[in-house]
Amino acid sequence: MTWQARVMTLFPEAFPGVLGISLAGRALENKTWSCSTYDLRQCGLGRHRAVDDTPFGGGAGMVIRADVADAAFSAVDAPADVPRVFLTPRGTPLRQKDVVRYAGAPGVVLMCGRFEGVDERVLEAHNVEQVSVGDYVLSGGEAAAQVFLDACVRLLPGVMGSDQSGVEESFSDGLLEYPHYTRPAEWQGRKVPDVLLSGNHAAIAAWRQKKAEETTRERRPDLWSAWLARREKNETAAGMSGQAG
Ligand code: SAH
Repeated sequence: MTWQARVMTLFPEAFPGVLGISLAGRALENKTWSCSTYDLRQCGLGRHRAVDDTPFGGGAGMVIRADVADAAFSAVDAPADVPRVFLTPRGTPLRQKDVVRYAGAPGVVLMCGRFEGVDERVLEAHNVEQVSVGDYVLSGGEAAAQVFLDACVRLLPGVMGSDQSGVEESFSDGLLEYPHYTRPAEWQGRKVPDVLLSGNHAAIAAWRQKKAEETTRERRPDLWSAWLARREKNETAAGMSGQAG
C-alpha cells in the first residue's frame, strides 16, 4: 500500500523538492509513497485569490484565513485515519517516536504555513496536530514539511538498505549515535581509534556505547537525564525481579 502524503501549500512547485532524489526519490518512483500537493490559492477569495488577512487584536503580519484553510482541508478530503498536521514553531517538537507513528499511519495531510500562520479555529475544527521541526523560525512550512516527510519516508518498508541502520541510529535508544570513521586509517596525521581496528566486537560495542553516552551528556543534557532516569528504573525493575526469582 502506498503511503500517501497530501501537502497543502501556497508553493506546490516546492514539492517533492529534496524528496525527489536518492532513497526518497526512488521510493516515490516505485510508489512506496506518493506526494500530492494542494494549492491553497485555489481556495483564495476574490479576483486576487486572497488567502490571508490581518490578525484580530492587531500586530504585525498576516494570517491565513479560517474559511480558506477550511476549504483546503475539505478539498483534500483524506480518510479519517490519516493524521492532519500543521507545521509551526508553536507545535510539539517532532521526535523520532512520533515519526515512527506517522510512518505507521496510511499517510499524512500536511499544512504548510506562511506569514504568521493559520487561524487557530480551523486547526481545532479539523483535529490538526501542531508539530515543530525545531526551536527556530523558518519563513514557511515547505522546508519543514520536507523534513517531516523525509523522516517518515525512510522508515517505510523497503526504503532503507539495511534494516539494522534504523535500529542503531541516534534517538532509537534515547542516546545520540557514536562517531563514525572510515579509510584511510591514518589521515593527515590523525589516526582512527585503535579499538575500531582491533576486530574485537565486544570491545568495539563497549567503546561505541561509551562514546554515545559521552556525546549525549555533553550535547543533549535533556536526553541524558531522561536516559539516566530510564536506566535507573530498569535497574530497579531488574533488581526486584531478581529478588522475586
Ligand atoms: N510568527 C510565527 C512564525 C511564522 S513562520 C510564530 O512565531 O509562531 C511562517 C510559517 O513557517 C509557519 O506558519 C510554519 O508553517 C512555518 N514554520 C516556521 N518555523 C517552523 C518550525 N520550526 N517548524 C515547523 N514549521 C515552521
